[in-house]
Amino acid sequence: MAEISEKKSALIELIDKIEQLGQFQDRIDFPANIRQIWRVFLNDLRNLIDVEACALFLVDDDSHEFALRYVSPEDMRSICQKEINFQIECGIFSWIINRRQPSLIPALVFENDTSIVMLPLTSTKRTLGVVLLLTPIQESYITQENMKLLTMLAKQYSLVMENTILYERLRKKHKSLEKANGEIRLLSRTDSLTGCYNRGYLNEHLPHEIKRALRYRHSFSITLCDIDHFKKVNDTFGHQCGDLVLKEFVQCIMALIRSDMDWLARYGGEEFLLVLPETSVTNAVQMAERLRKNIAKNIIEWEGQEISITASFGVTGFNSSKPFEKISPEDFINTADKYLYQAKNEGRNRVRSGQYQIFT
Ligand code: GH3
Ligand code: MG
Ligand code: MG
Repeated sequence: MAEISEKKSALIELIDKIEQLGQFQDRIDFPANIRQIWRVFLNDLRNLIDVEACALFLVDDDSHEFALRYVSPEDMRSICQKEINFQIECGIFSWIINRRQPSLIPALVFENDTSIVMLPLTSTKRTLGVVLLLTPIQESYITQENMKLLTMLAKQYSLVMENTILYERLRKKHKSLEKANGEIRLLSRTDSLTGCYNRGYLNEHLPHEIKRALRYRHSFSITLCDIDHFKKVNDTFGHQCGDLVLKEFVQCIMALIRSDMDWLARYGGEEFLLVLPETSVTNAVQMAERLRKNIAKNIIEWEGQEISITASFGVTGFNSSKPFEKISPEDFINTADKYLYQAKNEGRNRVRSGQYQIFT
C-alpha cells in the first residue's frame, strides 16, 4: 500500500515537472533578451537536477564558433571554457552536435566524481548552441527520467532562444539600417568638399526659415560671401590648392557663427550663403565684419608657401518690427547679391548691406 502511494506521489511530482516545463514560454516576457531566458532556464534546470555549474555556449554570428555567453557560478568560467576546448579537440563535442540529444559524457577537465551533461540547443534547421551542465550526481544515478526531462527542457529552451536570437538579429539589422539611412541623409545634404550644407539643403530650408521668421515676427538676415579673385588662386597654385582654400574658408566661418542657430550653405563655386535667424541686419553686418577680418588674417600653407585670401560680403535682412507678408527666397538672395556686387565693385574685401525691400 505504502509502495503504491509512494509511486503515486512520484508520478504526480513528475507530471508537475512536465507541466512546469510546458509553461517555459509563459514565464518569459517578449521581447526578451538572452540573459533573461538564461535565468529562467537555470531556475528550471535546478528544479530537475542538482547543478554544480552550468555554461551556455552560443554560435557566434560573425565567427560561427561556439562562444561562451553565460556561466553560473561566474567563477567557473575558465574551467568551463577549458572543458569545452578539450571536448572539441577530442571530437566529442561534434558527436553531440550531430546527435542532437542531451548526452552524458566523461569529464576531461573537471574532477572525476562529477558528471557532465551536454544539452545541444537545436532548432529544426540548425544548432543554436550547447549547454554544459556539471552535476554532482554520479553517472550511474542519472535516471532515464532525468534525461527525458532535460530533453524536454532543451527543446523548450531552444524554441524560445531561437525566437530571441532572430529578434535580436533583426533589431541589430534595423539599427544598422537606421544608421546607414542617417548617413545617407547627411551626405545628401552636405557639400562633399567643405562639409557645409549644399544647394539642395538651402533650397529646401531657406523658405522655411523665412516663413518662420515672418510668422513669429523675428528679425532675420542672410549674408552672401564670395572669395575675392579666387580664380587667381587656382591659376597660380592649382585646383587642389583652391580646394584647400575653400575648406579653410568654410572652417573660418564655421568657427565664428552660432552653431545652434546659424548655418552655412555652398551656393555655388566659391560663393556661400550664411543664414542668420533672429539676427538684425546691424548684427549681421557686425558678424560679417568679424568674418572678413578673420579670413583676411588667416594664413593658408600650401607646399611651403603661405597664401592669404580676402572675401566680400553682401548682407540683407528684415527686422521684427517691419514684417512683410511674404518674401520669396530668390528675391531675398538677389538682394544680398546686389550688396555683394556693390562690395566687389567698390574694391572687394568689404561688407555692404541694406534692409530687404521688394524690387519692382
Ligand atoms: P571675384 O573676386 O570677382 O569673385 O573673382 P573670382 O576669381 O573669385 O571669381 P570667378 O567667378 O571669376 O572665378 C571663380 C572660380 O572658382 C572659377 C572656378 O574654377 C573656381 N571654382 C569653383 N568651384 C571650385 C572648386 O570646387 N574648387 C576649386 N579649386 N575651384 C573652384
Ligand atoms: Mg569670387
Ligand atoms: Mg563667385
